[in-house]
Amino acid sequence: MKQILNFIDGKHQPSVTGELLDNFHPATGKVSSKVVNSHHEDVELAVQAAKKAFPLWSKMSAKDRAEILIEIGERLKARSQEFAELESYDQGKPVHLAMEVDLPRATANFQFFANYVLHLQESSSQIDGRGINYTLRRPIGVAGLISPWNLPLYLLTWKIAPALAVGNTAVCKPSELTPMTADLLTSVFQEAGLPAGVCNIVYGEGHRAGAALVQHPDVPLISFTGGTQTAESIVRDSAPYFKKLSLELGGKNPNIIFADCDFEKTVATTIKSSFNNQGEICLCGSRIFVQNEIYDTFVQEFVQRTEALVVGDPTQANTFMGPVVSADHRNKIWSYIEGAKKDGLKILTGGVESPVDSDSPWGQGYFVKPTVIAAPHTQCAIMQEEVFGPVVTITPFQTEEEVLTMANSTKYGLSASVWTENIDRAHRMAALLDAGTVWINTWMLRDLRVPFGGMKASGIGREGGEHSIDFYTETKNVCISYSMQPEKG
Ligand code: NAD
Repeated sequence: MKQILNFIDGKHQPSVTGELLDNFHPATGKVSSKVVNSHHEDVELAVQAAKKAFPLWSKMSAKDRAEILIEIGERLKARSQEFAELESYDQGKPVHLAMEVDLPRATANFQFFANYVLHLQESSSQIDGRGINYTLRRPIGVAGLISPWNLPLYLLTWKIAPALAVGNTAVCKPSELTPMTADLLTSVFQEAGLPAGVCNIVYGEGHRAGAALVQHPDVPLISFTGGTQTAESIVRDSAPYFKKLSLELGGKNPNIIFADCDFEKTVATTIKSSFNNQGEICLCGSRIFVQNEIYDTFVQEFVQRTEALVVGDPTQANTFMGPVVSADHRNKIWSYIEGAKKDGLKILTGGVESPVDSDSPWGQGYFVKPTVIAAPHTQCAIMQEEVFGPVVTITPFQTEEEVLTMANSTKYGLSASVWTENIDRAHRMAALLDAGTVWINTWMLRDLRVPFGGMKASGIGREGGEHSIDFYTETKNVCISYSMQPEKG
């Protein structure tokens, strides 16, 4: 059986303790590989390798670094099918979805940031003929990059590419549930000529390997994407070191549909924003609000299309949803559906039975039915807590004020979608929603230049374009005084 080993100083190596974790194939529930469960000694080795590589990598010209990153992007693109199949095998999403979304976005991460650093220009300012300020920007050192399981390759590379492009070295801790694409990425690093130690990868449980990275005094910045509760420990663990933190966390995103929307486009996109990647995208719209005039029509159409979604074999082109990532996660999703029933909410479609025939090859896989729940009010767990699965609520509303109150009623503030043909209303809603990203008449349209991140419990900091450059570098102002008075004599 394949063993996934740490990648430290350009070499694959086991944990110093030899400990391994089982890695499960979510579509069958069987163990598919073993992965290193790293301890703090392994993290120490990785950090030392990254520290050793820092002087060389940070002093290379931006052009030389960019060439290597572009090469990584090219090789990733050339091997997209291989990566997509592994991503699907490890995480559960359909292969075609990985090909449409994860691989192009992972490739773009390297291409974008490699090119971006070639065009960086620092600012300077004059002080009325008395002096000049200019800004120096420098890489910080070893970046700790911690990523989740839901978009394993795309989110990890979104951290690696800018961190390396500006001259940092890195120690990455991908989710222990989905290590396979990170492992394949290490072979791309080697083929592309990334110097040893520049990007190290350690696997294992978060409370051990992840925490060791956060608590390491030689790792001055942590970019973390994951759950809000995990982020609390990261903030606590990093506090004694005053680390630079970027926290991209959970969401409970509202999808607000006004009666004047383009109905067909709205329904079609809302099916995707609800159930793509089994609803395991932080940006999925898990709370749908529909204006009274079209509520019944929308619900009927939405439920009908939800019931037509194909759930099953992730290798098939017509499969819309594969399994969720793990048995524990499926059980958590089911417990929320049970909880909604106990709260008196009506399940319009879906529920806690597996959608897959138990005698089929996928009978033991972690499949969940796409589930739609009518929720007339917001004061229940399913409307407040992140489920992170193929479960959405639908709630009617009458006025802008009413829907804004409901939409902003959770502790989260990651993203929102608004569907309306009224441009004034679109701008008003965008300004008043508690969300780091507001999409108008669309969802998940990506632009790597814009600030990405959450409000409230959805995170702190912004990444993307210049925001990533700011996060992964330290800036210093230099102020020089000069005199405009001619020298005497
Ligand atoms: P998680 O918080 O359980 O784990 C994320 C990563 O942190 C994993 O690598 C894990 O091993 C590690 N980790 C766990 N405990 C740790 C600790 N004490 N110290 C350091 N590292 C630790 O999250 P998950 O279940 O992998 O991912 C799902 C969550 O991620 C959801 O809440 C989702 O909304 C969120 N997410 C957010 C975004 C975003 O951009 N805002 C994107 C994707 C996912």
